[in-house]
Amino acid sequence: MARNRKIYLREDEMPRQWYNLAADLKTPPYMSPDGAVPPEAWAPVFPMNLVEQEYSTERWIDIPEGVMELLTRWRPSPLHRAYDLEEALGTPARIYYKNESLSPAGSHKPNTAVTQAWYNKEFGIKRLTTETGAGQWGSALSFACSLIGLECKVFMVRISFDQKPFRKLMMQTWGGICVASPSNETQAGKAILEKDPDTPGSLGIAISEAIEQAVTDKSGQTRYSLGSVTNFVCLHQTVIGLETKKQLEKAGEKKVDIVIGCAGGGSNFAGLSFPFLYDKMNGADIDIIPVEPSSCPTMTRGPYVYDNGDTAEMVPLVAMYSLGHKFIPPPIHAGGLRYHGMSPLVSKAIKDGLMSPLALHQLECYKAGILFSKTEGIIPAPETTHAIAATIREANKAKEEGKEKVIVFNFSGHGLMDLAGYDKYLAGELTDYELPDEVIRENLKVIENYPKP
Ligand SMILES: *Cc1c(COP(=O)(O)O)cnc(C)c1O
Repeated sequence: MARNRKIYLREDEMPRQWYNLAADLKTPPYMSPDGAVPPEAWAPVFPMNLVEQEYSTERWIDIPEGVMELLTRWRPSPLHRAYDLEEALGTPARIYYKNESLSPAGSHKPNTAVTQAWYNKEFGIKRLTTETGAGQWGSALSFACSLIGLECKVFMVRISFDQKPFRKLMMQTWGGICVASPSNETQAGKAILEKDPDTPGSLGIAISEAIEQAVTDKSGQTRYSLGSVTNFVCLHQTVIGLETKKQLEKAGEKKVDIVIGCAGGGSNFAGLSFPFLYDKMNGADIDIIPVEPSSCPTMTRGPYVYDNGDTAEMVPLVAMYSLGHKFIPPPIHAGGLRYHGMSPLVSKAIKDGLMSPLALHQLECYKAGILFSKTEGIIPAPETTHAIAATIREANKAKEEGKEKVIVFNFSGHGLMDLAGYDKYLAGELTDYELPDEVIRENLKVIENYPKP
């Protein structure tokens, strides 16, 4: 095979439909105390065209022309062959990575951000609210809203707002309004500030503020936007895997052995893996591996339960792997992927034995991130290093077994805005941390009396 480091697609070779895993895999319904939650119940939160996608069981859903137009700002993304990483490892495996770091916001998140912005605009919405932790999602949504002419309001966790100014500046550059949460703009925010004026804030509080501001807008022209977890977000991300399949074919690969992605809420992993999972369900022999941090071990140590998707208990119950909706990873953890639950579709695929989740400690992940930076050259986001570390493990296994395996992983984003974690790693300040069983048991007490899927 001639050496070809990057495999490109032309814009006219982009997928025209998303793959909807819900057609091939049934998940338990969303629940409230009154029973299953019908689509209409979401109307104040999301526009109905996206709610329809959330409940859809159509296998292929057309990507509207307007969304295609937005995606071509940076798509199709290249698939890279990691020749230099392979050489450094001395592995017979062929390693490929799908480079989602080339989007304007630096990750896969704009794939769904522009799509959600487009559907909201179609539905007559003028303004989106959302929350952000470190700022990756807030910046992606601000970018999307700026392209399409929607107002964007981002509630950013206070401590990140103060300590991580660069993503806030990206949001502002794209015209987004970024406020520190808790804020004085919502009842939820005011109540917290009254009790604790110096609170660092939390993602849970920021979500409550964003949802409150959307559902209380009397004009009816504000909705809430979510960056991961839901079925429609996973759906939008499947452009990643659909492109990858075409690119692997162009590279002359007839078979893929292992598909890997890091998983926080599950969306970038879902985006790469669901189209391969479709092949697996139709007979292909593929190992599909979502990777999480050992200090937030949702898939590997959490039970499959009904739990709130949000810390604030404002949205319906979701059937998923979860550590309990009040779970917060220990402060020593520097690698992102902190969500307490997991996408319902990814969770069900794991439950059905179709995927093999893996948890990794942070030192192994940062070490992998540094090796990748020094061989392939791109500095990965701390989240992405989980996928790289798992890939290195599989490549080493292939070496031991003397097998020419084909491994593909999702390079979900670059780490240029997240160098503080590398700083701590390089200074020797990071340690591994094994989460005690008691902590998991304690955190699961809040959902003891919830219905079971
Ligand atoms: C947000 C983010 C993730 C985690 O989110 P998922 O929904 O699990 O994909 C992973 N990598 C990067 C670079 C991110 O910005």
